[in-house]
Amino acid sequence: MMCCVVGWTEEELNHFWNCVDKSGDCWIHKGAPSSSGYSQCFSSAKGVQNSHRVAYEFFFGQIPKGYLVRHACNNKRCVRPDHLKRGTHANNMQDVSDAQSHPKRKLTQEQAREIRQSSDSQRTLADRFGVDQAAIGNIKSGRTYRELGEPNDRSATVINFGRKNTPKEVIEQIRGASGTYKEIAAKHGVSFSFVGRIKRGEVCKAAKTD
Ligand SMILES: [Zn+2]
Repeated sequence: MMCCVVGWTEEELNHFWNCVDKSGDCWIHKGAPSSSGYSQCFSSAKGVQNSHRVAYEFFFGQIPKGYLVRHACNNKRCVRPDHLKRGTHANNMQDVSDAQSHPKRKLTQEQAREIRQSSDSQRTLADRFGVDQAAIGNIKSGRTYRELGEPNDRSATVINFGRKNTPKEVIEQIRGASGTYKEIAAKHGVSFSFVGRIKRGEVCKAAKTD
């Protein structure tokens, strides 16, 4: 697996790996960073080089002309082999812009409303809208998008439920059903509290809007 790097002596490579801090998830090469932020290293034959490229060649062999080595972790000083991937300049620009836009990505009010009302898992919603799960959780709990009003999971369920099914019919069935709320809830695949809300006449309004 490990091999030599063209233009590097074994001694220089040993020195290279002695300058790597492996205590974190990323392996940080402690060479002084270049103006563009990449850690640098030195071989007598090749001079100053970007450390992540040397690490890539060490593990995977020579980088073909026209290719660069990208960081999956977006940490320019990292030399961990499984954080490095070969790519093009266009790929690299995309990585940078993804890293910058991802945490700040703004969802529209309409999207946020859809997220609040959806019964899909947070993971599914995060993938669908291209945000992380924490962002979904914040929307669901009302920490963000306060302009949408207080979150109410039960009413959200009603609206979502109503769109997917024929709400009036189902709600009328539930309203007329006998048995415990638990039995009715299980029979119609809705939540216990939702049955309660129907029985108390609290959901007809939501149902009729569809
Ligand atoms: Zn890394």
